[in-house]
Amino acid sequence: MSEIPYKIYLSENEIPTAWYNVRADMKNKPAPLLNPGTGEPLKVEDLYPIFCEELCKQEMNNTDQWIDIPGEIVDFYKMYRPSPLVRAYCLEKALDTPAHIYYKFEGNNTSGSHKLNSAIAQAYYAKKQGLKGVTTETGAGQWGTALSMSTAYFGLDCQVYMVKVSYEQKPFRREVMRTYGATVTPSPSMTTNVGRKINEEFPGTDGSLGCAISEAVEAATSQEGYRYVLGSVLSQVLLHQSVIGLEAKAALDKYGIKADTIIGCAGGGSNLGGLISPFVGQMLRGEADYEIIAVEPASCPSLTRGSYVYDFCDTGRVCPLAKMYTLGSDFMPAPNHAGGLRYHGMSSIVSQLYDDGYIKARSVKQTDVFAAATQFARVEGILPAPESSHAIKVAIDEALKCKETGEAKNIVFGLTGTGYFDLVAYQKYNDGVMDDYIPTDEDIAKSLAKCPKIG
Ligand SMILES: *Cc1c(COP(=O)(O)O)cnc(C)c1O
Repeated sequence: MSEIPYKIYLSENEIPTAWYNVRADMKNKPAPLLNPGTGEPLKVEDLYPIFCEELCKQEMNNTDQWIDIPGEIVDFYKMYRPSPLVRAYCLEKALDTPAHIYYKFEGNNTSGSHKLNSAIAQAYYAKKQGLKGVTTETGAGQWGTALSMSTAYFGLDCQVYMVKVSYEQKPFRREVMRTYGATVTPSPSMTTNVGRKINEEFPGTDGSLGCAISEAVEAATSQEGYRYVLGSVLSQVLLHQSVIGLEAKAALDKYGIKADTIIGCAGGGSNLGGLISPFVGQMLRGEADYEIIAVEPASCPSLTRGSYVYDFCDTGRVCPLAKMYTLGSDFMPAPNHAGGLRYHGMSSIVSQLYDDGYIKARSVKQTDVFAAATQFARVEGILPAPESSHAIKVAIDEALKCKETGEAKNIVFGLTGTGYFDLVAYQKYNDGVMDDYIPTDEDIAKSLAKCPKIG
């Protein structure tokens, strides 16, 4: 057995005290957000009615490499961070691979995912600005849970618009949020103009993330003392998630391990962006090289089959326009059980890095993902979230390639969360009734045709 422990823990004093802003090192900056009405680039003040001021500044910050993490946030991080970097000895043995596999485990908090890293920061800035509360959307429920934990901690009101199908299918998630004091409304609802309009146009609809975003934004802008917060996609969220990568890198450095391949699942791109940020920073500065792989579901393949264009971020088209790899804001992904990966677009930072060739992307089929999840759970003990299992699947594929070539690569992947609320999906897989719908080229072309024509 090697000297590297099963779990590399950092001490509390090694929690990062500044977030790393990868945009500062990017030569090609992510494209600016545009006003959906005029098509002009947004100024920071234009965002103030929607987001907290400090977060608007972070959203627009392309220059500061490091942004201090306020002490109150570091104190909260101490309750569940540093998260362990685990050497997957048992998985390596089961695969009989010469590769060394490591995973950064972010599921060790009640929300069950990495989303708490940004939720606590966004709640902190809302509190500091003297707001009464925040509104948001949630799909699978991880983000809403993380946010309600954070608003409870700072004594803020929290209004969550939950995609109707998840609201009905995941009553337990809903109760966790309510236990932390949040109000949870199934979306589309009759409480907003945009919700009423969507309900009228599509009676009986199951709802979608894009539609819940429109409702949450309307709720924030129509109530005094409220702002909207978002769990992924935005550059501020990637910034907060850089704690994942900073800790992972510190843990590897401690044992003199140089990662070769870094793998993360990509929904809106925040966990992947956060995990890879300090490593990509080295690539951008010409200090080191890594192979970075973003993994997305074959049912919602924005990087591998989307276009890099300006698009709407929400179905109601009230949000700023963002240039990103997108499938079109009307794209309705087939019901995939990795709810956190069903967004039509991708972070503008991840999109630009992908376009510039720093990141590769791969899409994987749902049943293959659950096979990998099952294999992982049986040897490593943790029941992984379906989203995270996309990264597991590709980590296993890469480790098996090493078995053929004999290379002892260091593979690092992000294990973003646990799957206790996804047991209906596991049940489908275990019963052999899970499907693998992959959109046709026509499906994608149809929704892409509706992107705004800009540039
Ligand atoms: C939300 C979520 C994701 C995907 O979101 P990103 O913004 O792409 O990171 C992945 N894993 C889990 C467990 C999630 O909850």
